[in-house]
Amino acid sequence: MQLFYSSTRGGAEKVTSAQAILSGLAPDGGLYVPECFPSLDVSLQELAGFDYQKTAWNIMKLFLTDFTEEELKNCIRSAYDEKFDSPAIAPLHRAGDAWYLELYHGTTIAFKDMALSILPYLMTTAARKCGMEQEIVILTATSGDTGKAALAGFADVPGTRIAVFYPKHGVSPIQEKQMVTQAGKNVTVIGIEGNFDDAQSSVKKMLTDPQLADLLSRNGFRFSSANSINIGRLVPQIVYYAYAYGQLCAEGAISPGDEINVTVPTGNFGNILAAFYAKQIGIPIHKLICASNENKVLFDFFRTGVYDRNREFILTSSPSMDILISSNLERLIYQIGGNDPEGCASLMQQLSGSGVYTITPQMQEQLDCFYGNYASMEETADQIRRVFTDCSYLIDTHTAVGSCVYDKYRKETGDSTPTVIASTASPYKFTRSVMEAIGMAEEQGDDFALADALSACSGTKVPQAVETVRTAPVLHDHVISRDKMQEAVLAFLGIC
Ligand SMILES: *Cc1c(COP(=O)(O)O)cnc(C)c1O
Repeated sequence: MQLFYSSTRGGAEKVTSAQAILSGLAPDGGLYVPECFPSLDVSLQELAGFDYQKTAWNIMKLFLTDFTEEELKNCIRSAYDEKFDSPAIAPLHRAGDAWYLELYHGTTIAFKDMALSILPYLMTTAARKCGMEQEIVILTATSGDTGKAALAGFADVPGTRIAVFYPKHGVSPIQEKQMVTQAGKNVTVIGIEGNFDDAQSSVKKMLTDPQLADLLSRNGFRFSSANSINIGRLVPQIVYYAYAYGQLCAEGAISPGDEINVTVPTGNFGNILAAFYAKQIGIPIHKLICASNENKVLFDFFRTGVYDRNREFILTSSPSMDILISSNLERLIYQIGGNDPEGCASLMQQLSGSGVYTITPQMQEQLDCFYGNYASMEETADQIRRVFTDCSYLIDTHTAVGSCVYDKYRKETGDSTPTVIASTASPYKFTRSVMEAIGMAEEQGDDFALADALSACSGTKVPQAVETVRTAPVLHDHVISRDKMQEAVLAFLGIC
């Protein structure tokens, strides 16, 4: 059966998955959602016997029904290969009361690789399927990790160009170095004087501006987005929750059918939404534990039903979660509102106007399977130290937010359901914060020297991704104000 996608705001025609992947955002500014949820068509028992690639095929085929078996299997084979430094692709590590699902074994050592290593293949396949002749221009705002993962995925991919905008003062030194050293004939990387939300709003505006689209089209280009609003990002993220479930069965930690909890350090709400979608298709997930840092909009939302972005934007030690507008929450809002596009559009309008909206009590009732909490920077650092000392396991600041919130959940509820914590970045990506947390703050030198010191004291190897950028030349040093973003894009495309 063919699955179609429609916009959360109702102002766009329904499309195939290939069309949704090419567009990124729907033309009415909404997000594409599947018209209904498919069901897993293999047993949980069978799932336990699948490797990552086979799991990917069995999950993704349910959502990308217009891709042929050969097309989809090609995409999967090209994405999940030796680029990953673990044959398991996403290995599970038991530490303390939880299993850490390590999503950072790809090229840029953060979980964005899980989806962005396959998105370029999905997108070029979709372009071919739709008979599209224009060049695809990927426009991306990043809080740090998406940018590099998208650059790595799209660099020198024929028929595509990519422009990445990042908050100049809002990413870690290693994150920045990873981006500004990106080679490739079709890439540009630009720093913004502003925060992630500024960059993201401007990008969204460009992506939905019909006049701009027309100007591009006349010059042989078409915008798309590699941000987590693209369904081509979301679907590959469902895979690793199914895979983690299968692995737990295979290890005998659970029996097929048993429930698990999933804890996700959350920013834009993409990763945890993928876990929610995994639950929809039949992976037995009990609670979805949404972990925030001090930008705790989501914690407040789950407690009160009020989403309020009017607050101070706090720069934390988990910068990839420094977000006040969690874009993917719109998909959840749409669903708990009974797939009501008018209602959803109205709430999103309130969000972009006054910055606040309140959901109805009926909607709030449907959030039962979610639990929200947050961790302060001090709690995050304490958690890194505790897990390192007690379990000899090193986690990064983002994962530590998840781990800390999971402990709070367990204490508060007494629920001892086996729990998977999404481990979203390598500790080597946020070296300084991790070193400070384990009491090695006096180490001198740049982040690369710190990486060596971290390696020495933890007995783990400096990942290849860090070695690669250590000596790479800076190729991009452009910094602009946010009102100059459109100009920069046009200049990059040679349109004036
Ligand atoms: C992007 C990111 C997150 C947040 O994920 P969302 O899907 O935006 O909620 C968490 N941790 C790391 C390391 C990230 O890069």
